[in-house]
Amino acid sequence: MAEKFTIPDELKDKGNLIGGTWTNAGSGKTFDVKSPVTGEVLSSVPLCDSSDVDKAVKAARKVRDFFKDTPVLTRVDLCNRIHDNILERMEIIAQVQTMEQGKPYIAESIPDIEETALLFKDFAEDIVRLETTVFPVKDPNKRAFSVKEGVGVTAAITPWNFPVIIPTEIIAPCMACGNPVVFKPASTTPLSGILLARCIQDALDDMDLPKGIFNLITGPGSTIGVDLVKHPDIACIGFVGETVTGENICSNAGIKRTLMELGGNGPQIVCEDANLEEAAAAAGLGCYLLAGQVCCATERLLVHRKVHDEFVSLMLKETEKWKLGDPRKEETTVGPLNNEPTALKVEAHLKDAREKGAKILCGGEREGSRPTDLYFSPTVIDGVTRDMLLNKEETFGPVAPIITFDSDEEAVEIANETGYGLQMAVFTGSLKKCFFYTQKLRTGTIVFNDSTNFWEDLYVPFGGGGGTKSGHGRIATHYTLDSLMYLKSVSIDIAKVK
Ligand code: NDP
Repeated sequence: MAEKFTIPDELKDKGNLIGGTWTNAGSGKTFDVKSPVTGEVLSSVPLCDSSDVDKAVKAARKVRDFFKDTPVLTRVDLCNRIHDNILERMEIIAQVQTMEQGKPYIAESIPDIEETALLFKDFAEDIVRLETTVFPVKDPNKRAFSVKEGVGVTAAITPWNFPVIIPTEIIAPCMACGNPVVFKPASTTPLSGILLARCIQDALDDMDLPKGIFNLITGPGSTIGVDLVKHPDIACIGFVGETVTGENICSNAGIKRTLMELGGNGPQIVCEDANLEEAAAAAGLGCYLLAGQVCCATERLLVHRKVHDEFVSLMLKETEKWKLGDPRKEETTVGPLNNEPTALKVEAHLKDAREKGAKILCGGEREGSRPTDLYFSPTVIDGVTRDMLLNKEETFGPVAPIITFDSDEEAVEIANETGYGLQMAVFTGSLKKCFFYTQKLRTGTIVFNDSTNFWEDLYVPFGGGGGTKSGHGRIATHYTLDSLMYLKSVSIDIAKVK
């Protein structure tokens, strides 16, 4: 199986797409992309600087008005062709994604790419059904209505945990609504994004659409990400990543449109009346899917004191089902962490908790004897308290930290106190409690009796709760289009026109 996971030649050179042409950085400099799975260098990609950013943004700006005014059905055709191209290349994109990201190929990478293709189809449907309003007016000679237009050149800046589907959550609606894009993938996972870009550019070429509608540049967020955000011809920034990066981007963006999908610290609350077996199974998915590196991962398990002991023993059994290993193998359900800073953060959070009295019940360390040092054992840690980093910050690793509570009011206080509010889960058999938690939890999404990692991002709006550190704007359907388009109101005096 491993031999299938080779990097195609098209990823070995000219990783930038600027104005429809595949190219290197102006400086000729590159940086290596290393596999967390094997430790090998997979490829080198352009190390861009501000002059490459400027070229990419100018290429996009040049076609801004053309793309905005393209008939809707042409853009629908474009999205559908991109969908087909992605499905045609699904296996190779998924393999490259597994090699650079570390996620299990069968369990996670293939489904990611299938959903990526679907997103293009879905946004084609959303744009074709987009409605605008006719407004009431006092003057009988006046008619007033609205149209919606794409805001213009959009920067898509995205993280390494979902290197294809997350960019698509921004790119697909942009292709549907007529916003040219400059895409900057995360530096540890640019290769599968480059393959996505090839699917998009092939569709643009097949339709003879002008060069520059879609552009991709690679390089550090701390330099070219900042340049991109500040560029005067960028109208909108679609960003997914850490809260602290999001804050930096917002301060650099000024009055530009922003769609911010940021960090989470999702608790799963297990009430005393919960079905504990189902709660433990959901917690397994919440804590260990993608080795815990999901924005809506279960970062904390808040468990009612009365059911604590039984839940902990079920959680330990559940943890045994999650198999750490080579993500190219079908039986593997937990791959390596993506990068060293993430592994160091997981270790720091566990060390802090241990020093403050928490007890590791299983896992808790990197597994030796693997090709890289990034394979971290699924970990259950009990006796976690509110002053520990595991409670206060996003850990982003395969860790199940158990915090005990005595009342629903206390559970709400712990859930809300970290300031994050992306996705929270509650296990209860009581409808009364469902309404209580719906009202009290400050979060963008609440899931009852399923994992924090339950998501239906094609149709159910997803994003940060009001006043939280998890961002603003929504992913899914016309809610995303709202962030990427603006309303133009029009009034006409029909007495004065023929
Ligand atoms: P980062 O914020 O570190 O990076 C995200 C992207 O921003 C990368 O492309 C990065 O480039 C770039 N970047 C870094 N600094 C800047 C800057 N100053 N200006 C502009 N761009 C910059 O996030 P991670 O990649 O570490 O991703 C993990 C985070 O993403 C977690 O916090 C997770 O919760 C969050 N996330 C949120 C989701 C949501 O929907 N709410 C979904 C998925 C993840 P480079 O790679 O070169 O550093």
